[in-house]
Amino acid sequence: MPIPLTTLSQSSLQDYNDCPRRFELRYLQQLSYPAIETEPALENEKHQKEGEFFHRLVQQYFVGVPAEQVAKLANTANLERWWENFINAKDLRGLRDLGGLKTEVTLSAPLGKYRLVAKYDLIAIDNEKIYIYDWKTYRKRPKNEWLAIRWQTRVYRALLVHAGAHLNGGTPIRPEQIEMRYWFADFPNDPAIFPYQRDQFKRDWDALTRLSEEITSASTYPKTEDVTRCSYCPYRSYCNRGIRAGDALDAELETEAEELFDLNFEQVGEIEF
Ligand code: SF4
Repeated sequence: MPIPLTTLSQSSLQDYNDCPRRFELRYLQQLSYPAIETEPALENEKHQKEGEFFHRLVQQYFVGVPAEQVAKLANTANLERWWENFINAKDLRGLRDLGGLKTEVTLSAPLGKYRLVAKYDLIAIDNEKIYIYDWKTYRKRPKNEWLAIRWQTRVYRALLVHAGAHLNGGTPIRPEQIEMRYWFADFPNDPAIFPYQRDQFKRDWDALTRLSEEITSASTYPKTEDVTRCSYCPYRSYCNRGIRAGDALDAELETEAEELFDLNFEQVGEIEF
């Protein structure tokens, strides 16, 4: 029996946005992946695991483990290259000197009948400015226009305004203080940077509220009309949308999903407005 859905995240919202049927299968029916997502499967799985491990390495660095010690754990060609790129990026390395660093922090706030939840790789507070860092190990650098409209970019900034005051000494965070930065481990000199403004925050929160209401009242979950999305979707076999897996480089941009079912809510910081 699936557990009733009580949380929404950037991943589930993105799935609902891209294909309501995928949202239904993944988050309401909670079906495990029946099809290999992309080809070649093994190589992609390895890349994904290395990406997760790279996040752990960076986290270790920011909680104070000496860089030389972390470097020893970078024991594959990808990890070694990503770590080198990271440690050679002076602005990232220097973040450790800031007092207000929060790694792997989870925030949540009520959104309609759900809780909106997001897990941040790093939040760095530098006087008035508050930076959200997100590490990406994509093999292809996505376009800024594509990132700008992703739910991750909108949710992370909006939720930090809404539920992040306790990270800021109890003072509410203003949208203008926030900047979100995607850092690409394979494109270290080309981060994607997204500042924030009050009208964007209002637009995002209104859109999130509308979307949560739509999800609450939805009774049907149509398949996407854009069949290109199906070629890398793990649920193809449920939808008669082909057996062959799609291109891995496109897939890693489109199907990134974090697992929130096992989130420990004791770790979740929340301020209700
Ligand atoms: S195969 Fe296509 S229609 Fe089916 S869930 Fe995936 S994206 Fe949606």
